[in-house]
Parts: sequence; structure tokens; C-alpha cells
Amino acid sequence: MDKEKASNFIEEIINKDLENNKNDSRVHTRFPPEPNGYLHIGHAKSICLNFGLAKKYNGPCNLRLDDTNPETEEMEYVNSIKEDVSWLGFKWDGLYYASDYFEQLYSYALELIKKGKAYVCDLSPEEVRKYRGTLTEPGKDSPYRERPFDESLDLFKKMKAGEFEEGSRTLRAKIDMASPNLTMRDPALYRIRKLSHYRTADKWCIYPMYDFTHCLSDSIEGITHSICTLEFENNRPLYDWILDKLEVHHPQQIEFARLNLSHTILSKRKLLELVEKKYVNGWDDPRMPTISGLRRRGYTPESIRNFCKTIGVTKINSIIEMNLLENSLREELNKTSNRVMAVINPLKVVIENYPEEREEELDCINNPEDEASGTRKVPFSKVLYIEKDDFQEVPHKKFFRLAPDREVRLRYAYFITCKEVIKDEKTGEIKELRCTYDPATKGGDSPDGRRVKGTLHWVAEKTAIEAEVRIYDHLFLTRDPNEAEDYKDNFNKESLIILNKCYLEPSLKNAKPDSKYQFERLGYFCLDKDAAKDKLIFNRIVSLRDTWAKINKKA
Ligand code: ATP
Ligand code: MG
Repeated sequence: MDKEKASNFIEEIINKDLENNKNDSRVHTRFPPEPNGYLHIGHAKSICLNFGLAKKYNGPCNLRLDDTNPETEEMEYVNSIKEDVSWLGFKWDGLYYASDYFEQLYSYALELIKKGKAYVCDLSPEEVRKYRGTLTEPGKDSPYRERPFDESLDLFKKMKAGEFEEGSRTLRAKIDMASPNLTMRDPALYRIRKLSHYRTADKWCIYPMYDFTHCLSDSIEGITHSICTLEFENNRPLYDWILDKLEVHHPQQIEFARLNLSHTILSKRKLLELVEKKYVNGWDDPRMPTISGLRRRGYTPESIRNFCKTIGVTKINSIIEMNLLENSLREELNKTSNRVMAVINPLKVVIENYPEEREEELDCINNPEDEASGTRKVPFSKVLYIEKDDFQEVPHKKFFRLAPDREVRLRYAYFITCKEVIKDEKTGEIKELRCTYDPATKGGDSPDGRRVKGTLHWVAEKTAIEAEVRIYDHLFLTRDPNEAEDYKDNFNKESLIILNKCYLEPSLKNAKPDSKYQFERLGYFCLDKDAAKDKLIFNRIVSLRDTWAKINKKA
């Protein structure tokens, strides 16, 4: 193969391996999620990396469900993982389950015992902990460490046959209780768990540990480059030790920095807690950093892939700003989404000098970034809605929108001037504005060159469609919620705001589930899956600009 230019340190390693004809110049990667939750944007980084490398080097990439924990794994999660990887735009070459290797892994364990490299240990979990030592103190050998291998063999078979209680025995690797790397102090390879597994049911009551399963699954599948996150750097010597002792195909483990994203959390365990304790409405709640949440929110696979490309692959842990993910979407939607008008906090405007029965159809541009998108007709009539915050009765200095006796432009329509403010007699709340319009300004320009400073979006009352609009904000108030004692302390209670009685221009009646729209001046929106024919519900995918940047600057 031609030597390709490396765009990160992993590609440099691969290029070198290819030069040396390592693994017969094959490149074979895998993405190995545990089906104990839904995938999140951190997994997307790993997916893009593993599938991307396979594509670049013309090799296969497997999807492997790393399912050796009976207590937490479920078919629902397997299905969601498959759906999310496909949705992101990747096709796996082989679909594998670590649980399919249980028999083979068991044979490997027997082999290690026979080689004198593993033993059955009768210490209780607390005793094991005590014997392990600390970072500054070496551990102590288990009294069972030197038991004859045929005794271990017999006990291990009995463990498999269900003859012992949970926690009473483990199979441990015989490595070095004084190793400075605690992972190497005779780690457990098998434990007894009398639980039904979602795929193998009650066939097994001993389950292999992650470190034992992972390297051997990689080896069985002929993986060449086993890519994982930096936390596993300490486990690499164990990965290598097991494969060396068994003298089997030996992939190379390479670690990279996991993705951390500001104002959210990327840990399945914590995301599960948010779901179970009902902080959010399920794994696909549009506020969740899960792939399914982002999809429902309105993110596109392309924007997520572009984001992963932008952040790159390094060995340095950091927190990426949420804004970077949002910008990747803004950039795409700016090019691809049609503009429409919608008013989400409506204030009624009556144009006094506009004829009662008249209805005009005004030409509006669908997408100024895309000429081919053309124009559409939007109805205009005497009674309209504008946004409440586009009017101030006593305008502050830098407010250029509507105010008493001030003239502004209604986008694509006319100049209007506010003549009277109608208030609720009891509450004093502004109920309605009486305005006049200048017929000569049709289309939004004045023939006499008169200028206005503000341009407002609007929706005509007669033809408006009513809808619910859901506005989302960061799930957490702080940049790094993990800094708090309990990450949930900084949950943003205003991360979902539901607005009823929003008014949309009539073209949105036929909004399609997959379409994204720019509501002029408000952001990008899409239909939510909760919407029905007679009840439109829109999600705000993202605002037009990063509002948090401003807030942070002020602070
Ligand atoms: P979590 O901590 O969220 O439970 P995990 O590492 O336990 O994640 P796995 O299902 O084991 O989840 O992950 C599958 C693959 O995705 C692993 O190779 C893991 O390294 C990678 N991965 C998980 N989280 C991230 C992340 N935040 N950034 C990059 N890769 C990740
Ligand atoms: Mg894991």
C-alpha cells in the first residue's frame, strides 16, 4: 500500500507498521462498546476514529459488543448501539459478541492454569483488597498462589459447575504482587456471578473480567490495532502479558484521550442515573449528549462527524467547549436549512390602516445561502404577531426595535409605526399594539430612501398555525459538572422550557420529521418525535449564535 500521510499519532504508528510489514500489512480495527447504556458523543469520537482508520487503510472494522457483565447488559442497548453506529454513517464488517467467546475464553483460562500462570484463589474480596497493597507499598502473595496447578484446574471446573458461592473464589493471574503497577498484582481473570446473562441465560455462572476478555477478543478477531482511551494505559501491560503467555495473535493497544465536553457529562453510568431519576425524559431526551438525544434534537450525522474531525486525536486530556459541537451544526444548517418565520412569544399587532379583508402573499427567500432553494409565498394581513421582546414601551439606549412612535421594518413586508399601546386594565400587561403601515414600502424598502434600524419577523394571525416549541439549554450550569461533590448539584433546571401558543407561518404545516428549519432570528428547529398531525411540536436544535460566550464574557 502507498504510504499515506499521517494526520495523527495513531496513523504514524500504523504507517510504521505497514513499512515493516507487521501483521502482513493488514489494518483491522474494532469498536467495542459494552451494551450497558446508550452511546454518547464520546463514543462517536471512538467510532469515527476506528471506522475512519479502517476506511483510510482499506481494512475492516468490527462492531463488538463487549458483554461480560450479566448485571448491567440488555438487548435494548445492543439494538440502540447498532442503530446509532449505522445512523452515524458507518458499516461494520463483522458483528461480534464477547459472550460468543465464553467457551473459548474458558479454554484459554484452563491453558493459563496448566502453564502455571493462573490460580484459583480462595481469599474473600476484602482480603484480596488487603493483600493488594498500595501505590507506595507492595502487595502480599495470596496463600493460595502456590497451590498445585491440578488443584486449581479442579477448583476452576467446580467454579464453572456452580459448586461455590459468589465471592468465595476467583481465578487470578500469577504475575507480581510487588509490581509498581497495581493492575499487575495478580489481577482477577474470572469471578463467580450467579446471574442470568441477556444472551447466554443461565449457561454460565463464572464470567471473565474485562482485561481477560478484551485482549483475547481482539486476538480472536485478528484485530491489528486495538484503540482505547487513556485510562487503559495501566492495563496495557496486562493486555500484553495475557497474549504473550498464551502465545496467540497479538494486537497492539494504543491509547488516546477521551472526549470531555463542557456543560454535560459523558459517562454511561451517570447518564443512566439521570434517566432513572427522571432528571431527563429518557436516553433520547434532546438535552442528552447521547447519539439518540442529539439525533432527536436535530443534529445530523455529518455535523457530528465533522466535529470529531475538528477535535482530532491526541494523548492530552482536555474539555472541549460545547460551542464547538454547536458550531459544527450551525455551519451545516446555515447552508442547508430553509428560513421560515415563527413567533414564539407572541405580541399582537393590529395595522389600523390596512384593509380588514385584504390578504397578500409576499415573496420570501427560502435560503439566501442556496439560490436553488427559491422563494415561497407568506400571507400578510391586518392582524399579526411579533415577538414580545421586539417591543419596549420605554426603549433603552441600544434598543432599535419597535417602540411608541418608532418605525421598523417587518421582514419582506412593510415599514410599520407604533401608534398606541393597549394594556390589560387590571394587570397593566401589554396586550396589543396599534400600528400603521406605509404601503409604499412593500417588500421592505422605502422609495424615499427613509431608513429604519430594526427588522422584525412576524406571522399573520389569520393563517398562523399554533405549535408548541421546546427550547433547550445546557444540561449543567457549570463547565465541568464532575468538579462538584455530586455532579447532579449543577443540573440546569431550566434546560428545558416549553412554550405553548407559538405561531408559525402556514408553510410549516407540512414540516417533515427529518427537515431542519431556520426560524428567522431565533435559531434552527426541527419537528420533535412527540409531534402529531394536529399538534406540531418543534425542538430548538441550536440558537443562531453562541449565547453562553456572551454571558461568560460579562461574568
Ligand atoms: P462510559 O465511561 O461512558 O461508561 P465506557 O468506556 O465504559 O464509557 P464502553 O462501552 O466501554 O464505554 O466504550 C466503548 C469504546 O468507546 C471504548 O473503546 C472507549 O474507549 C470508547 N469511549 C468511551 N467513552 C469515550 C469518550 N468520552 N471519548 C472517546 N472514546 C470513548
Ligand atoms: Mg467500559
